[in-house]
Amino acid sequence: MENLYQSTRGDQERIPASRAILNGIAKDGGLYVPLTLPKFDRPVREYAGRSYRENAFDILRLFLTDYTDEELHRCVDAAYDGKFDTAEIAPLTEAAGAHYLELWHGPTIAFKDMALSLLPHLMTTAAEKNGVTEETVILTATSGDTGKAALAGFADVKGTRIMVFYPKHGVSPIQERQMVTQTGDNTCVVGIEGNFDDAQTGVKRIFTDAAMNRELADAGFRFSSANSINIGRLVPQIVYYVHSYGKLLKEGRIRDGEAVNFVVPTGNFGNILAAYYAMQMGLPVNRLICASNENRVLYDFFGTGTYDRNREFILTSSPSMDILISSNLERLIYHIAGNDAGTDAALMSRLLSEGKYEITDAMRRNLSMFVGGFATEEETAAEIARVFEEAHYLIDTHTAVASAVYRRYREQSGDDTVTVIASTASPFKFTRAVAGAIGIETEGADDFALAEKLSDAAGVPIPAAVTSLRTAQVKHDRVCATEEMAQAVRDFLKV
Ligand SMILES: *Cc1c(COP(=O)(O)O)cnc(C)c1O
Repeated sequence: MENLYQSTRGDQERIPASRAILNGIAKDGGLYVPLTLPKFDRPVREYAGRSYRENAFDILRLFLTDYTDEELHRCVDAAYDGKFDTAEIAPLTEAAGAHYLELWHGPTIAFKDMALSLLPHLMTTAAEKNGVTEETVILTATSGDTGKAALAGFADVKGTRIMVFYPKHGVSPIQERQMVTQTGDNTCVVGIEGNFDDAQTGVKRIFTDAAMNRELADAGFRFSSANSINIGRLVPQIVYYVHSYGKLLKEGRIRDGEAVNFVVPTGNFGNILAAYYAMQMGLPVNRLICASNENRVLYDFFGTGTYDRNREFILTSSPSMDILISSNLERLIYHIAGNDAGTDAALMSRLLSEGKYEITDAMRRNLSMFVGGFATEEETAAEIARVFEEAHYLIDTHTAVASAVYRRYREQSGDDTVTVIASTASPFKFTRAVAGAIGIETEGADDFALAEKLSDAAGVPIPAAVTSLRTAQVKHDRVCATEEMAQAVRDFLKV
């Protein structure tokens, strides 16, 4: 059955998956959602004991119904290959009372690789299928990890250009170095004087600027997005929740049909939304635990039903979660309103004008599977130390936020359901904070020296993605004000 996509805000256009992936965002500023969320077409136990690629193919075909099986196989095989440093792609490690789902074995050592290894293939296939002749310009706002993963995925991909905006003072040194050393003739990286929300808002504005879109179309370009507003980013993220459930089943950790908890360190709400979709498709889930850092706008939302971004933006040691406008929450709002675009559009317009909105009691009742939690900077560091001492297992700051939130949830609720924590980055990507947390002296040492100390202490090798940065040349050094983003795009495209 063909699955079509439409905007969360009421635009009546219904388009196939490949067009939704090409467009990235709907013309009315809404996000694409499937008209019907598919159900699994096989018993969940059959996902146990199969390879990541097999499961990816099986789940993608339920959503991307206008791609042929042959096309999907080609995309999946090209994505989940030797770029990952383990054939398992997403291993599950038990440590200190939870199962850590390691989503950082791809080329840029953060979970964004799980989807961004695939998206360029889905996009170029979509361009072919739809006879698109313009060059696709991927515009990306990043809080640190999406940028590099998108650059790595799209570098030198024919028919595409990729441009990344990151907050100049809001990413880790390793993250910044990963981006500014990116090679490839079709790449461009710009730091902005602002935070992630400024970058994301600026990119969305360019996407929906009709005049600029016309100008670019005349010059042979069209925009698309590699952020999780693109449905082609979201769907691949469903796979690892199903895959990890299959693994627990295969290893005899759970019985067939037994529900599990997922804890997800959350920023833009893409990763946890994928877990919600997996649950709606039929995956047995007890609780979805949404973990925030000190930017606890989502924690407050789940507790009160009011989303309020009017607060101070805090820079933390988990920068990829330093976000006050969680784009993908819009998709959840649409679903809990009963797939009602009118309600969603009204709330999103309030978010724009007043910076906040409140949902109804009926909508809140549809959120019963969600639990919100947050961890302070001190709790995050203490959790890294605790897990390391208890299990000799090193986790990064983002994963530590989730881990700390889970520990408190478990103490307070007494819920001892088998729990999977999404481990979203390698600890070597946030070297300074992780080293400091386990008692390594960080004063005066650069991030590479700290990586070595961390490697010695934990007995794990430094990932190649970090060692290769040491000698890599800086290729991108532009910094601009948020108002200059559109001009930066024109400069890059020479229009
Ligand atoms: C992007 C990111 C997150 C947040 O994921 P969302 O899908 O934006 O909620 C968490 N941890 C790391 C390491 C990330 O890169």
